[in-house]
Amino acid sequence: MKKADLVIHSAAQLCRVPPHDGGPQRGCQLGDLGVIEDGAVACEAGRVVAVGSTEALRQAWWASTELDASGCVVCPGFVDPHTHAVWAGERADEFVQRVRGATYQEIMASGGGIMSTVRATRSASVAQLVDASRPRLDRMLTHGTTTVEVKSGYGLSVDDELKILDAVHCLDVSHPATLVPTFLGAHAVPEEYEGRAESYVDLVVEEMLPAAAERFPEVSFCDVFCDQGAFTLEQSRRVLERAKALGFGLKIHADEFEPLGGTGLAVELGAMSADHLVCTPDQEIELLGQSDTVAVSLPATPFGLAHHQYTPAQAILEAGGILALASDCNPGTAWNESMAFIVALACRYMHITPAQALVAATLNAAHAVGLGDRVGSLEQGRDADILILDLPDVRHLGYRFGSNPVKHVIKTGEVVVSR
Ligand SMILES: [Zn+2]
Repeated sequence: MKKADLVIHSAAQLCRVPPHDGGPQRGCQLGDLGVIEDGAVACEAGRVVAVGSTEALRQAWWASTELDASGCVVCPGFVDPHTHAVWAGERADEFVQRVRGATYQEIMASGGGIMSTVRATRSASVAQLVDASRPRLDRMLTHGTTTVEVKSGYGLSVDDELKILDAVHCLDVSHPATLVPTFLGAHAVPEEYEGRAESYVDLVVEEMLPAAAERFPEVSFCDVFCDQGAFTLEQSRRVLERAKALGFGLKIHADEFEPLGGTGLAVELGAMSADHLVCTPDQEIELLGQSDTVAVSLPATPFGLAHHQYTPAQAILEAGGILALASDCNPGTAWNESMAFIVALACRYMHITPAQALVAATLNAAHAVGLGDRVGSLEQGRDADILILDLPDVRHLGYRFGSNPVKHVIKTGEVVVSR
């Protein structure tokens, strides 16, 4: 008998979420859960060391801690590959304006929107940002998210962008969740650069990006908001090309409101992901489908804005693309901390099955943040990031919404949430 730290056994459905050819699940292959009925998983030193039927696992392994997952689904921890989770202030007043009919662009033009969060974030210290953001990460973890990408982008000056990255770093070292930091200095043109977007892009490429690269070598990605009211395709290209030269992986906010060619740019530059993709033209979906750039859909954003257009998931899958899901957690359009809710939205509005959505929120999401060989799947050798969901089978994950299905969260082999 071999000894493990933790064995989870008797799961009604254990979803391994197997990689395909060592990578993500592409196109119409999406949705392979690798279900083991009456399944079990053993963890040792923070890693998965064995997965199989309860009977087979019990013959080979014993553990100091055991969790009975009878009647439950066991799956990898959610990976949320697109959030803006570090900010100060809130925008409930703007929500009420929107409910009364104001559009996102109207709110931005009147000095609200991103700018009101920028003002609050600029006036907060690192410690205040950490204190404001930690409860969000706690709620994400309670809802099963064990890996979270977090962007800067509410500072929009050299010092304030570095301050946010500092806060992300403090949270990463002190919170159970794994945080993946992304630099998003080109999130919006700040008020003091109004009408001078090119000069602001100069600041981003000449000062902010090199400063971020030097001070935070762990920041692996640079993102840019390529859309109407934010940055043009050429400005986005300048930011991403400079970031690539500095060694950053690339991400882009593309086609949320207007198709400016951002998805094609992402593919051309070999970006890790292209995100939003609500109004992406067919030719660019074809390019995406032939690339390794992950298509990250954020269904809480159109939902949060009460819009009716969502990412054309079927077209992306038919083109052979790699589809992932994220919360886009942010104080304006989508203050949502639950990936289970994202799954429920994706099933309804993007017409994908719960099985497809679960893979998009785990394995494929891990590929969107460069951790596709470490998390997102219950394969031997991967981080033991595991959820026990109080659901009889995976279909209930999309079927139910508005309550938290999580019973236990295991992060690198430690039980960090029990409900
Ligand atoms: Zn975003």
